Amino acid sequence: MKLYRLPRYVLAEFPTPVDFLESFSKLNNGPKIYMKRDDLTSLGMGGNKTRKLEFLVGEALDQGKDTLVTAGGLQSNHCRLTAAAAGKAGLDCHLVLNGNCPETASGNLLLDKIFGAQIHYCDRKDRDQRLYQVADTLQNQGKRPYVIPVGGSNGVGSVGYVNAMVELHAQLTQMKVQPDAIVFATSSGGTQAGLTLGAELTGFKGQVLGISIDQVKTGKNPFPPVLLEIARATAQRLGISTELTEQDFSLNCDYLGAGYAVPADLEFNAIRDLARCEGILLGPVYTARAMGGLMDLIQQGVFKKGQTVLFWHTGGSPELFAWSSQLGSQSGSFEG
Ligand SMILES: *Cc1c(COP(=O)(O)O)cnc(C)c1O
Repeated sequence: MKLYRLPRYVLAEFPTPVDFLESFSKLNNGPKIYMKRDDLTSLGMGGNKTRKLEFLVGEALDQGKDTLVTAGGLQSNHCRLTAAAAGKAGLDCHLVLNGNCPETASGNLLLDKIFGAQIHYCDRKDRDQRLYQVADTLQNQGKRPYVIPVGGSNGVGSVGYVNAMVELHAQLTQMKVQPDAIVFATSSGGTQAGLTLGAELTGFKGQVLGISIDQVKTGKNPFPPVLLEIARATAQRLGISTELTEQDFSLNCDYLGAGYAVPADLEFNAIRDLARCEGILLGPVYTARAMGGLMDLIQQGVFKKGQTVLFWHTGGSPELFAWSSQLGSQSGSFEG
């Protein structure tokens, strides 16, 4: 396996901690809940994109590129961490963000600006095209752009989550903990593809369960094929073979609510409960939806007393500040 020979640019300190959430487990009255703290990756307020960016930036530097270009929503954690990584690696950064330039930047958008990224605003429907237009323009100006897909989810970036599974395997062995399931937020799929491939590689016996944040399972383009595609590209990048099929990807799409980045009671309750039990913060868009989903699955008896679940915290707490009008209002969900 080429894991330790692929170009990698170190962006944070690893391993991230694994915590036992004693009070939060008690509150939910179900399985023992552990948490893998990828909210604590030590670059630019943390999150899962850091692990992917180590390998993406590694490749960009290896290819002699001088500018990172990527895309996402106004509150994209991926874009914020790309901006932070670019600065550290001595690269320029251009971000294509769908949405209108707000009067006052908050949350991740504020951080994009502090990290010095150049921002291009566009409509959601034009985003993918704009990403390549911006890269073309830079190229014509004599720059050497490196385009990172939305969420950093390709065979290069997902290597970071195969590596993360190897890291977790060593921690769990030492702790003598065997989770029945690993639960986390899934959106562009690179995290789940890497973890599932990593589970195959390390012989992890439990379920690897993504809670979908925005992808619908049914329809003409169901999501698991994309997960399989990324996992296969990742295996190829690592020079290993994989026997994964679509059936090996567990994705729960029951918690989509009113859509992407529209948090409601499920998310707000999860944020409040975890913050008050453990002093740990979730983000309203991704991790609070996934944790709200896990809490509901416990209530439904899908995960029970006597079992062990590991929640993989993928970050996103800077999103909180973009929802301050809901979270902090007089009639908000945080009274009492
Ligand atoms: C991007 C992101 C995810 C989803 O990861 P994917 O690899 O895109 O599926 C989950 N949580 C947070 C906080 C994120 O920023």
